[in-house]
Amino acid sequence: MSYQVNRKGYYGEFGGAFIPEMMHPNIEELQEKYMEVINSYNFRQDFIALLKHYVGRPSPLYYARRMSEKYQSHIFLKREDLNHTGSHKINNTIGQILLAKALGKTRIIAETGAGQHGVATATVCALMDMKCIVYMGALDVQRQAPNVKKMRMLGAEVIAAESGNKTLKDATNEAMRDWINNPEDTHYIIGSVVGPHPYPDMVARFQSVISEEIKWQLDEQLGRELPTRVIACVGGGSNAAGAFYHFLDSEAVELIGVEAAGKGIETKETAATLTLGKPGVLHSSRSFVMQTNDGQIIEPYSISAGLDYPGIGPMHANLHATKRAKYLWATDDEVLEAALELTQLEGIIPALESAHALAALKKLSLKPEDVNVISLSGRGDKDMETYLNHFGY
Ligand SMILES: *Cc1c(COP(=O)(O)O)cnc(C)c1O
Repeated sequence: MSYQVNRKGYYGEFGGAFIPEMMHPNIEELQEKYMEVINSYNFRQDFIALLKHYVGRPSPLYYARRMSEKYQSHIFLKREDLNHTGSHKINNTIGQILLAKALGKTRIIAETGAGQHGVATATVCALMDMKCIVYMGALDVQRQAPNVKKMRMLGAEVIAAESGNKTLKDATNEAMRDWINNPEDTHYIIGSVVGPHPYPDMVARFQSVISEEIKWQLDEQLGRELPTRVIACVGGGSNAAGAFYHFLDSEAVELIGVEAAGKGIETKETAATLTLGKPGVLHSSRSFVMQTNDGQIIEPYSISAGLDYPGIGPMHANLHATKRAKYLWATDDEVLEAALELTQLEGIIPALESAHALAALKKLSLKPEDVNVISLSGRGDKDMETYLNHFGY
């Protein structure tokens, strides 16, 4: 069985490109050209060089000694938190800005909820001298003021979407409208393994550098390429896709995704899409979606803004359906506890998103000989206010 996308953009029964007629030219151009561009010699050279000299890759694979002692099992942390701009998101925006350049585009649009993807996009636009417009729900513009200021300082124009709930979905609609009106000069940078084909596959390929490095780093440290399991948090699913990618066909490697349960999967304040959702179309592809019986999208909730998304990438929907990967969930309280634990055992303050992966350690039966690799997708600087509010320092 292949867990990769097929030529039509499907992972099993999930994926595809459910787009309005008006967007066909934009999407078809990408579908026809993305593989050729990203496999070209020039692209590979530029991508590898920027990941090395600008992002700071390879990110360390750190053996967490005190955590390992506590859990009586070997725990390695893949340190995406040490990347420039503080998370794995930059791997994807570097890839997409180079693709946009190769396609002759001069203008970049993006949508962002929490602002992390907006900042990663504004960063690479400054780097590459591209015009950058970031759509953001009006409510999110207020809630995420520091990221809005960063984007503006980086030279991006931040446009507040005033329609609907004034959150991510509304920003996405505005971005799509913009793209339809500017098909010639504009590339739309999507921030996770979601959206119409080819985005899920393209973003997974850019993020796959994570598992490519894990393999040789494990070999270097342990003399083996394969861990027992890989654990990653899942919002749209891009850091997980990157951390799983080169292990998908090694069936002995257990793949664990961790969703945000918010206040609990029995409450209405949750974002555990695979646990609670049903098949449906969101953001132009078929996947699992949190929806009511008559198909209305349920507003998600999580303490971590980066996991607060009612859908999930189609690759994960298929890994779930085929049982190749297992998806657990962690509540806000479990996540806060896990974040504090890592901070005080290893001196690393994780992003709230990444702490979901850490929280899964308590839900698994770990053996002393197991080699666990956890994707530490981002750093906790952006979450200090939440941590301080809860822990009262
Ligand atoms: C955005 C973000 C996530 C969630 O996105 P995925 O596409 O699911 O990886 C996870 N961790 C951090 C630090 C983020 O910024």
